[in-house]
Amino acid sequence: MTTTRHLSPESLAAQALGWVDETTRAVVPPIHVSTTYLRDPDNQYRSGRVYSRADSPNYNQPEALLARLEKGAGALVFSSGMSAASACFLALTPGDHVIVSRVMYWSLRNWLLTFATHWGLKVELVDTDRIDAVKAAIRPGYTKLIWIETPANPLWIISDIAALSDLAYRAGARLAVDSTCATPVFTRPIELGADIVMHAATKYLNGHSDVIAGALVAARDDDYWQRIRTIRGQLGTVLGALESYLLLRGMRTLFPRVRTASANAQWLAERLAAHPGVEAVLYPGLPDFAGRAVAAKQMRGGFGAMLSVRIKPNADIGVNGEQAAVAVAANTTLWKRATSLGGVESLIEHRASVEGAGTPAPPDLLRLSVGIEAKEDLLADLEQALAIAHRRNTI
Ligand SMILES: *Cc1c(COP(=O)(O)O)cnc(C)c1O
Repeated sequence: MTTTRHLSPESLAAQALGWVDETTRAVVPPIHVSTTYLRDPDNQYRSGRVYSRADSPNYNQPEALLARLEKGAGALVFSSGMSAASACFLALTPGDHVIVSRVMYWSLRNWLLTFATHWGLKVELVDTDRIDAVKAAIRPGYTKLIWIETPANPLWIISDIAALSDLAYRAGARLAVDSTCATPVFTRPIELGADIVMHAATKYLNGHSDVIAGALVAARDDDYWQRIRTIRGQLGTVLGALESYLLLRGMRTLFPRVRTASANAQWLAERLAAHPGVEAVLYPGLPDFAGRAVAAKQMRGGFGAMLSVRIKPNADIGVNGEQAAVAVAANTTLWKRATSLGGVESLIEHRASVEGAGTPAPPDLLRLSVGIEAKEDLLADLEQALAIAHRRNTI
C-alpha cells in the first residue's frame, strides 16, 4: 500500500490500487464464492471471517479503492444504493430529527416519507440549496443527520457541502452526501467536511448498467459507522461475489468514462440551450444556472453528465410541453428510453411519468443521462426527435 501513497486518483483507479493476489500473483482478483470460513482448532476465527452475510473478501479491494478515492477512513459496499442510503437512517434512533433535500432521488424520498417516518424518524424536507432554510430547520439536540444529494435529481439543484457541513457540525449533527452524480472524479465531499458519502454504485462507479450496488464512505471510524456495518451484516444487504468483481472492474475506468460523458454533457447543454424547440436546459455547467457558483466551487474539472431539458409546446398544432417531451423521447433512436443513469450508453426519460403525484419534475422535462458516444451523434438524434415532436400530424 505504501507504494501507492503518492499516486493520483486516476492511477489508483486504473490499477485498483495495484493489488496482486498473494497466492496466484494474478493482477485481477479472484472471485470468492464461499459463504463460510474455517474455524481454528481452538474455536477462534483468526482470519476475521465467519460468514458472508456480514462481509466477504470480494469487498476488500473495491472498498479500499473507494475509501482512497473519497479520502475516507473506510468504505462499505452494499447490495444497492437504496440499502446503503437506508442504513444511514436505520443507524439513527427513532425520534431523531433528520433534514433531507426536498428534491432528491425519488425512491429514497418515498422510503423516508413512508417506512422511515413510520419507524419513528422525524423527516423534514428542506430546500438544502438555501443555507438559511437549513439553519431554520435545525432543532438543536434533536437533529442528527442532514442528508443532501448534489447535484440533485432531476433538477440538478446544487447544495453547498462546505457550508452545510459547518452547520451540521455546530448543531452536533452529521452531514451525509449522496454524491452519485458528482462522482469522486469531480467532488470529494469528505474534504469539504462531510461525514458520510453515499454512492448508488449502480450508476457511475460501475458504469455499465449491469450491476445493482451501493457504497458508503465514512470520514471517521466511529460508533455510527460501526452501527452501519452491523446493520449491513444483520440485514444481509451485501453485494454478490460476481457483482463485487464487476464493480471493481468498472471502477478502473471511472475517470475516462466520467470525464468523456461530462464533456459531452457540457457540449450538449450549450447547444440544446440555443435550440428553438427547447424551453430551458438545467445543467450546473451553464453560466445562468442558479447553483453554478457553488457547483464551480465544489466540482472540479466538470459538472457531471446529467442534465434535464424542458421541451417547448407548439400551440400551432395544439401540442403542450408534456406531449412534446414525450414525443421527443418516443422518437430518439441512439438515446435509449430507460430509467437509471451513469452508464456508458445515453438514456432519456420523461421523469414526471415515472415519479407521479408530488414530483418536482415539470411535465415538459426530459432527464438525459449522457454517455460516452460521439457527441455529434447524440445531438443529431435529439435534433431529429425535436423536429418530429414539433411537426404537425406526427404526434
Ligand atoms: C439510483 C440512485 C439511487 C439508488 O440506487 P439503487 O442502486 O438503484 O438502489 C440513489 N441515489 C441516486 C442519486 C441514484 O441515482
